[in-house]
Amino acid sequence: MQITPPGVSPIGRSLLDRSLQELSEYVQATGAPAYRARQIHEWIYQKYARSFEEMTNLPRAMRAALAAQATVTPLEPVTRLVSQAGDTQKALFRLPDGERVEAVLMLYDTRRTLCISSQAGCAMGCSFCATALDGLRRNLTAGEIVAQVLFFARYLRDADETPVMRVKRPTTVTNIVLMGMGEPMHNYENVWTAIRRLTAADGFGLGARHITLSTVGLIPMIDRMADEGIQVNLAVSLHASNNALRSKLVPPNRRYPVDELLAAVRRYIAKTNRRVTFEYALIQGINDSPALARDLAIKLQGILCHVNLIPLNPIPDSSFQPASARDTQRFVEILQAGGISATVRMRRGIEINAGCGQLRNAVAA
Ligand code: SAH
Repeated sequence: MQITPPGVSPIGRSLLDRSLQELSEYVQATGAPAYRARQIHEWIYQKYARSFEEMTNLPRAMRAALAAQATVTPLEPVTRLVSQAGDTQKALFRLPDGERVEAVLMLYDTRRTLCISSQAGCAMGCSFCATALDGLRRNLTAGEIVAQVLFFARYLRDADETPVMRVKRPTTVTNIVLMGMGEPMHNYENVWTAIRRLTAADGFGLGARHITLSTVGLIPMIDRMADEGIQVNLAVSLHASNNALRSKLVPPNRRYPVDELLAAVRRYIAKTNRRVTFEYALIQGINDSPALARDLAIKLQGILCHVNLIPLNPIPDSSFQPASARDTQRFVEILQAGGISATVRMRRGIEINAGCGQLRNAVAA
């Protein structure tokens, strides 16, 4: 298996790895007129085509020529698993160089939320996360990130594939969270290229406010995101309010400690006026005490934020256990009493290992 060093994108054959401009140059180089590129672009981003064969307004010979030298999507689905409740689907995809990533579709009442990956593996090393176990394999290209969305957009629209889920309206992807495998801020360029294509009116066309980027807290990149001028939501994986504990759980904290991180979040809010979400996985006997809840409430005073508490999801070979229902409830009540908006996140797809921190490039569930 070929391993591309982090930061270097493999030159794929997928047309998803080309911008509209590059697609246009590519098509013209074959001798076809430029408007063919716009047609292909529309087939990919608005009709969710997966093959050139479907692009029926292109001449047959052109479709055959394209199919001989390129692909539409870089992803090949390997396994698809649906939760017992029928509301969560996890897909494992194979990338052109053999790497694997997972994405998760969650059906709620009015939302169809997609959790996508930004890297194959992850370099951050969080001690309670399954993705960290194998380290970083490589960054995903912008096309590989966007392709996960287009794959599920097609699935929701047509509902003609297995596995079957009871998809009622809406039949579109309504929300995207960059909370799958990888650290999106560690693959900043490709992630933002993907976000621009997902939000572009002539691209996938999703409102930026329906996209959330989650980070361990790479401060320089938070500052950079504040200047992007796109209203994507920011979520920060906090998990502890003091440096001794947070550095154990989230190693990048050694470089970007809690106080500096919270200062960066304050700068971000001052610039964007947008509420930030803090994620906090509750681990029994580690970070779930009332004293830590009180400390967290104090540190978050005056920050326009919401705290999402996630009872830890089980991962292999780990002694960490989820906080009890009682301790979870007490933790959320202390935050609320301290004036901090906080809720416990519903757990989804745990039995198919589709929950937060459970995604891994493994073949089986
Ligand atoms: N690297 C980014 C994006 C991944 S988001 C980040 O860390 O924010 C995945 C979220 O699930 C993060 O908040 C992560 O800390 C959390 N998580 C990881 N392992 C978990 C586990 N075992 N149980 C619950 N949440 C977990």
